[in-house]
Amino acid sequence: MMFASGLRTAARRPALGLRTRLTLSYVVLFAVVMTSIGLTFHQALVVIFHQQTERLLDGEWNALKGFLRARETELVWAYDPEHPEEAFTVDRLRRVFLLTDAEGEVIEMSNGYASIGREPPELIRSILRSGAPATVKRTGSRGEVYMVRMGPYGAAGRTYFVAIGLPVSENERVPARMLAVYAAAAPVMLLAIAILGWYAAGRSLSPLLRVVDAARIVSGGNLSLRIEPLGTGDELDQLIETFNGMMERLEANFEQMKRFSVDASHELRTPLTAIRGQLEVALLTARTTDDFRRSIATALEDVERLGRIVQSLLQLAQAETGQLRLNLQPEMLAEIAARQTARFSPLAEKKRISLRLEAAEDCVAAVDRLQIERLLDNLLSNAVKYTQEGGAVEVRVRREGGEAVIEVADNGPGIAEHHLPHIFEKFYRVREGERTAGRGVGLGLAFVRWIALAHGGRVEVRSRVGEGTTFAVRLPLRPAAAAPAAAKAE
Ligand code: ADP
Repeated sequence: MMFASGLRTAARRPALGLRTRLTLSYVVLFAVVMTSIGLTFHQALVVIFHQQTERLLDGEWNALKGFLRARETELVWAYDPEHPEEAFTVDRLRRVFLLTDAEGEVIEMSNGYASIGREPPELIRSILRSGAPATVKRTGSRGEVYMVRMGPYGAAGRTYFVAIGLPVSENERVPARMLAVYAAAAPVMLLAIAILGWYAAGRSLSPLLRVVDAARIVSGGNLSLRIEPLGTGDELDQLIETFNGMMERLEANFEQMKRFSVDASHELRTPLTAIRGQLEVALLTARTTDDFRRSIATALEDVERLGRIVQSLLQLAQAETGQLRLNLQPEMLAEIAARQTARFSPLAEKKRISLRLEAAEDCVAAVDRLQIERLLDNLLSNAVKYTQEGGAVEVRVRREGGEAVIEVADNGPGIAEHHLPHIFEKFYRVREGERTAGRGVGLGLAFVRWIALAHGGRVEVRSRVGEGTTFAVRLPLRPAAAAPAAAKAE
């Protein structure tokens, strides 16, 4: 079973460790973010340059209208050559310039435009037909790029075709260069992110590795192992706290089990040693049949005690593993309490203990009669056994909210506070009381606790040394449909 589940874990183990996967995620995430930023910037630059060129072309187009005028039948550049600004502007306008008639016949073509080549007459005709200027991209013979504004130009009753261009090679080159620089820097940045990511992932996973290491070395011998919490309160801190909590429970259970095995072997050995002693003595010293009878009778008492211990242990084990089924029937708790109290009155009388019962008749609960009798039997036998001569024991049965409460109170020696958390454990006895009172098996209260839990209830104890002890068993009046017979009295 363990081997099989081990195999399954091994099969499901990923090829890459968590640290590597985290680092890879950082790198991939960063690469995606960097690529999108780079592309966005590139696109933004392209758009900005394009808009700027359009604005410049608008300006040039308007300036053109001011300088290109109709004189009689032809178009001429009208400006004052002596005026440096006008001369400069016209010179600039004519640098990449094409003027044709409506049929596409070239009237004027600058050298700059010559490298682009004259526009085809079909294009000219279609632009003149549309009546609106258009902006197109043209490439010169040496690879230089131009943005060209072309459109109809009406003067002296005739329509001409005009095109002016602006060199934009630089506009194309800048975004491309930016992208190249960015792409060259990317691997360096990704490497830096990978190193930082590896370091950060290692740091944040180190508490996890501490838990793994600790869990790996846990064995029966070092259950006191704890991991120091980080104090951050995050998920890893919670993991550490959960691990520590688990270890605490394991340690407590393990300790209890260890104590139980030591106690159980001790409890079984004592009557065995006694029997052996009695039989040896009988063998060596008994002469008459009466001698033998006496020895056998005492040995039998110890055999009975041994049997009781084994029987109780077996029943407790069955109860804790859910093999004992409760037979739930509506019962009047007052009546059960009265019968059990009556059973103990001769014993109480012998110790001059006043034994009183105070029971509410209306207390009916669905219980397993046999088990509740056994519960009362254990509590009453303890009370009568441990209470001094002339003391008082009281049994009370009442309703409280949705619960039935059965109390057994005495004014006996009481139980010291440090013993209280343990008295329901198997074989636990308060050592001081052992010598004066008769020896019990030490399983009575373990039974009481199991019976209360199995009925969906609980048992509480209040005690003061020198004043007395009260055990209160609280049972739900209507237990849940499926009574938890398997309740574990850990
Ligand atoms: P035991 O067989 O020894 O009575 P129990 O499990 O019934 O075992 O009780 C556990 C221990 O709790 C007892 O050894 C005793 O010291 C203490 N105890 C139980 N009931 C009382 C009581 N009414 N007054 C004082 N001590 C008690």
